[in-house]
Amino acid sequence: MIKKNSLKICSDVDLSSYNTLGVSAVASVFVEITSRDDLLVLADQDFFKHHQPFILGGGSNVLFLDDPSKAIIKMSVKGKDIVDEDAQYVKAQIGAGENWHEFVSWVVENNFGGVENLALIPGTVGAAPIQNIGAYGVELEQVFDSLELFDMQTGTFKTFYKKDCDFGYRDSIFKNELRGQVIVTNVTLRLSKLNHIIHDSYGSLQSYLQEKSIQNPGIKDVYQAVIDIRRSKLPDPKDIGNAGSFFKNPVVSKEIFEDLQSRFEDMPFYEVSENEIKIPAGWLIEKTGWRGKQIGHVGTYQNQALVIVNHGNASGSDIFHFSKQVQKSVKETFGIELVPEVNIVE
Ligand SMILES: Cc1cc2nc3c(=O)[nH]c(=O)nc-3n(C[C@H](O)[C@H](O)[C@H](O)COP(=O)(O)OP(=O)(O)OC[C@H]3O[C@@H](n4cnc5c(N)ncnc54)[C@H](O)[C@@H]3O)c2cc1C
Repeated sequence: MIKKNSLKICSDVDLSSYNTLGVSAVASVFVEITSRDDLLVLADQDFFKHHQPFILGGGSNVLFLDDPSKAIIKMSVKGKDIVDEDAQYVKAQIGAGENWHEFVSWVVENNFGGVENLALIPGTVGAAPIQNIGAYGVELEQVFDSLELFDMQTGTFKTFYKKDCDFGYRDSIFKNELRGQVIVTNVTLRLSKLNHIIHDSYGSLQSYLQEKSIQNPGIKDVYQAVIDIRRSKLPDPKDIGNAGSFFKNPVVSKEIFEDLQSRFEDMPFYEVSENEIKIPAGWLIEKTGWRGKQIGHVGTYQNQALVIVNHGNASGSDIFHFSKQVQKSVKETFGIELVPEVNIVE
């Protein structure tokens, strides 16, 4: 074990408690970063010249296929601060290793608005911009101001503003051009202090609020509604291993959609632009008969076919092969290629 300041480089670390799918894998090199300066110490030791690391947050969106060949850098940098404010907004800067839901709860308790629809998403703040997390009609980019990252090639810190991040649906520059090259150290979000914009038009959110006779919901109502809906629909990784939605919802052209709709009249959809339609991947999977199906220790969740679950001792490759079979059925039935939302680590 090498020690410099508080930094420890460990070997043979069991990752099963570091991923919400609960898959067993052993990291030959594992470093936990608790301060941004730790990254400079690593750079000083030429760590990034010898290793091509994989950055790990809460492990809620990763599938370890096997023991990873890359060094694992676990981001645990903490801290949250209000760094700027005016009459209408605050800017909150949050360490990459802070728990996302705990941060959202803190925001709502302080009566700031903007992230209440994103309550209960597992994982860390630093991972949130990587796939531009989204839920119940809101995406991170709507409140995103900037982030600080460490460039592993140059060994320097840089600031990226919203315009630099190429945010898209579960997508950003960090999943594409900059994949594997940068480490997010903190994120700055712009949150409303007054006149909060309430996003309550998402189907299940609206039904929930109507059922509870909540006419003019505030941010606390939306926050609580999202928590209740999520708890009723999604499996808690503490009870059953999963990584949330395994695949992205496919977006197809209007032409392809119209052809599909003529064959599958009950196909649900959302218009994303004049020429693009999003189809719920969970519906496609369910239609091909995979909802609740289990092979060995792997299955899809009974209440939501888009969630692949580890019923016990499934290995990373068991889960991967199961996902391939689901993909194949959807391709054969609908001609649609499902793309994993989960990051597959080899
Ligand atoms: C039950 C459940 C429900 C979910 N619901 C949603 C949902 O509604 N909406 C949604 O968008 N997602 C959802 N997810 C997916 C997941 O919670 C998010 O993608 C989350 O942002 C992942 O955070 P994490 O810290 O666990 O990241 P990890 O799984 O550890 O990593 C995810 C990716 O981000 C990279 N990464 C992580 N931290 C950093 C960093 N500091 N710097 C650079 N790269 C980094 C990793 O290398 C990896 O590529 C759900 C997952 C589960 C288990």
